[in-house]
Amino acid sequence: MNLASVICLVAALTLQGATAAAQDLPASSPTPGGIAVVDLGPADTAGTVRAFFGERRVMVTGHGGRLFAIVGIALDTEPGAATLLLDHDGRDSEVPFEISDRSYETQHITVANRRQVDPNPDDLERIGTEKKRIDAALRAWSDSAPQLNLLVPVEGRRSSAFGLRRFFNEQPRRPHSGIDIAAASGTPIRAAAAGRIVETGDFFFNGKTVFIDHGQGLVTMYCHMDEIDVAAGDTIARGAIIGAVGSSGRVTGPHLHWSVSLNGAMVDPDLLLDNPDQG
Ligand SMILES: [Zn+2]
Repeated sequence: MNLASVICLVAALTLQGATAAAQDLPASSPTPGGIAVVDLGPADTAGTVRAFFGERRVMVTGHGGRLFAIVGIALDTEPGAATLLLDHDGRDSEVPFEISDRSYETQHITVANRRQVDPNPDDLERIGTEKKRIDAALRAWSDSAPQLNLLVPVEGRRSSAFGLRRFFNEQPRRPHSGIDIAAASGTPIRAAAAGRIVETGDFFFNGKTVFIDHGQGLVTMYCHMDEIDVAAGDTIARGAIIGAVGSSGRVTGPHLHWSVSLNGAMVDPDLLLDNPDQG
């Protein structure tokens, strides 16, 4: 056996170790509101690779002997050239990737409670305070490797799609950064994957809300709940009941608004669902 084949054998053993814990990767859909799966090269290098998109650390996972960054792309991102920054034990490098365009439909909604469209100064102060808590929850980072095939949290009809460009009472507002699933008040809501509760609260727009940190920047958010059955710090299993569907916050009827955030960017939940046709 010559030296080259010895090295290859060592590499092969390392790759087997890496693939043992691997799971299927999501399909790459590098668009605003999508997920870019970026090949970072062979996984046989020693040390830790950390990847960053903008200021945010992004998920890195091994698959088939290679490392991939799983990058959430915010809905307001401009299509075009983008760059991941890599930190491999202190050595920096860049990996370019391309963000292509995706168009989303427009939706007009009438909200009877005008304060929920044009909040008064007290409301604005409350909204500002809540935004800090929400942003902090969405920035949660833990090193544990998350499950990437998510469970639909509630059985029910899809009442609103991800990414809709929205007008409330004819005024432009932020695009719809999750999916809505209509269900009767009291219907149990299940955790989309195992994780840790990072925050709960009763927010001006989102109503009673739970945030779950699944690891490596994957956070799911459940809004407009009737009741919350978990508390910050709880560790929960995939499918565990976290509360019930309701109509708290800015809603036109009982439903679950469900958002999936990767590196702080809300992405289309269908890209990570076990079976997108359900729910
Ligand atoms: Zn919604």
